[in-house]
Amino acid sequence: MALDLLITNATIVNADGRVHGHVGVSDGRITTLLAQNVAQLPAATRTIDASGRLVIPGGVDAHCHVEQVTGEYKSLDTFRTATTAALHGGTTTIIDFGIPADRGESPIAALRNKLSLIEGARCDVALHGSVLAWDDTVPAQLDEMAELGVRSVKLYTTNRGTTMADEDTILRVMKEMVRLDGLTYLHCEHDAIVVDQTETCASEGHLGIGHLPRSRPALSEDASVREMIAVAEHTGAPVYLVHQTTAAAVQAATEARARGLQVFSETCPHYLLLDESVYASSEPERFACCPPMRPAETVRQLSDEVALGNVHTLASDHSCYDLAQKRKCSHDVRRMPHGLPGVETRMPAAFTAVVTRGGLSVDRFVELFSTAPARINGLRSKGVIAVGYDADLVVFDPTETRRVDGAALHQGSDFSPFDGLELAGWPSTVVSGGRIVVDEGRFVDPGPVGRFRARAGFSES
Ligand SMILES: [Zn+2]
Repeated sequence: MALDLLITNATIVNADGRVHGHVGVSDGRITTLLAQNVAQLPAATRTIDASGRLVIPGGVDAHCHVEQVTGEYKSLDTFRTATTAALHGGTTTIIDFGIPADRGESPIAALRNKLSLIEGARCDVALHGSVLAWDDTVPAQLDEMAELGVRSVKLYTTNRGTTMADEDTILRVMKEMVRLDGLTYLHCEHDAIVVDQTETCASEGHLGIGHLPRSRPALSEDASVREMIAVAEHTGAPVYLVHQTTAAAVQAATEARARGLQVFSETCPHYLLLDESVYASSEPERFACCPPMRPAETVRQLSDEVALGNVHTLASDHSCYDLAQKRKCSHDVRRMPHGLPGVETRMPAAFTAVVTRGGLSVDRFVELFSTAPARINGLRSKGVIAVGYDADLVVFDPTETRRVDGAALHQGSDFSPFDGLELAGWPSTVVSGGRIVVDEGRFVDPGPVGRFRARAGFSES
């Protein structure tokens, strides 16, 4: 039987090292790995010569918000458009969130609603649940999620009145996630500090989006991270800290691990490539996200933490709003739809930040981009190029650079926070579930073939 696909003469880069050889694919899986000097290559329906290029495992983006409704705003993408954008950018699996739209919606209803939207997806999708407020039905709802293969729950320490969970809820949910062998995702900003600081800004008439960094200071993140680590220590819960932006926050997680806690650090490419000077630009609303971009010195220190190996994953925190939605509230940070489009640019932005500028190896990039997000989230067939794994592969030339033009991307927005930046690490060919979906730069729509992927329990991953 001929292979479906053979990628030849490749530099195959995994998180634990690289080999030169050939990758064979059949029925959506990697079935053959051959050394470069093999005497004879097997027959294949399609052969791609990857001479001079790298082949890495398809990206796993553990933090995406697709078709998200928050207050009066709805993000502009669908699972069809978001996963199309993901594939263009070398990401072959996304993990989204079932977040209740308001306190009237139960966690399991929000999750089932997200599940029903996935059917248009072009790549594989997994989900995190979310709990806003504790009641006696929450344990059974979390049981139901776990049975569906949703083994993580996200909790927010901020956003009073919308997504924020109180301390009792957070502690009780962490205990439940221990019982269910799951992972607790935490958005950490100390709400009382954020509210007080925002009120101070308001009293001075400084509520425009240019004042966003002042309204959400680094101290609020660091304080909340330390508090949540204490709750994790009390409950014994493994926790995953989303979008960490400061070295102090990452160091708190590192110290906790040294004490034996299971704490994981995520950051996003925009916290490594951009600093708070963007809020002094002519359109600061292009950079409206929480936490905000930090001072240049903080960005440098955060990059050092990535280089030290203290950050586990690079996720996009993809939230697809356009400039019209952003401009509508640019006068008031409290009403702004926060979040940036990023699922399509995650690969070049992360590659440029950690390899081109940061000097790390491509192996380390693969760990942050694909392998660790798959492993930590119990996606056991993802994130590694090895026989038996899903045939999710990205071929690229690390020396090729392109200038970002957000309007020309496929994310469903009309801008990118990286507009105008020259980035390296753009995929030329992308294989998802054994299908060639980007063929030397040309998108080949696979149709709605993306599957919902159930995840293994935390201790099984
Ligand atoms: Zn997020």
